[in-house]
Amino acid sequence: MKYCRFDVDGRDSYGLVELVAGKEIITRVLASAPEKVGDLEDLTSKRMPPLALADAALLPPVRPSKIVCVGRNYREHAAELGNEVPSEPLIFLKPPSSLLAPGGSIRRPRISERTDYEGELGVVISKPCHKISTEEDVRPYILGYTCVNDFTARDLQNKDDQWTRAKGFDTFCPVGPLVTNEIDPWAGVGVETRVNGAIRQQGNTRDFIFGIDVIVRFISQVMTLFPGDLIATGTPKGVGPVVAGDVIEVSVEGVGTLKNVVVDE
Ligand code: MG
Repeated sequence: MKYCRFDVDGRDSYGLVELVAGKEIITRVLASAPEKVGDLEDLTSKRMPPLALADAALLPPVRPSKIVCVGRNYREHAAELGNEVPSEPLIFLKPPSSLLAPGGSIRRPRISERTDYEGELGVVISKPCHKISTEEDVRPYILGYTCVNDFTARDLQNKDDQWTRAKGFDTFCPVGPLVTNEIDPWAGVGVETRVNGAIRQQGNTRDFIFGIDVIVRFISQVMTLFPGDLIATGTPKGVGPVVAGDVIEVSVEGVGTLKNVVVDE
């Protein structure tokens, strides 16, 4: 199933998204936040007047306590920035204050001269997840998948020894438009980024250096993941700068397209 989060007269709502006559339509309102239920198949909902996903006032579909990102998880991306392939997952955090809704404007801070898109598959956690063993299946800990743009001030990333500033500005984490459990990243799903309609990144999750099971287990050794937490799984090659007025679209096969415009602060 697929769900989104949207605003109805100032009220936070979650909606079931269904394909009706080839269009994505919100057909039902969910009784509670999906991460509170933990399994999308157990959700209860009630009918609502059909609303096209494209016409809804969408909000980020997650409300994470933290956003954990994986750096350099595709060989060719590590190479394009002149980095070695890491021997274990390289993780960093983005603050929840960096979240941005689908359709929202990414604000380029004045102190950065180079800001890059990074299209990525997002993983949403379903239940508390702490020190998962190598024998344990990680899939029950995953609620679903979404699109993430790990927007980055590349010059500040190169300047600072760690990446809190470069990755952490408000609006630097667009996410959405929905969460789905209907894809299988282990089998391979396409991740594509377009800028003003031109394709810039085309990757596939089957080319991950570290698979989702390795990533989730690795993070869970360090910190407890809570329901609703978001993991950005790394970006394929083809990162590049954007300027005010550029429109970025991140598409994950089977999820949809996350579209945002860039503006100057
Ligand atoms: Mg990234």
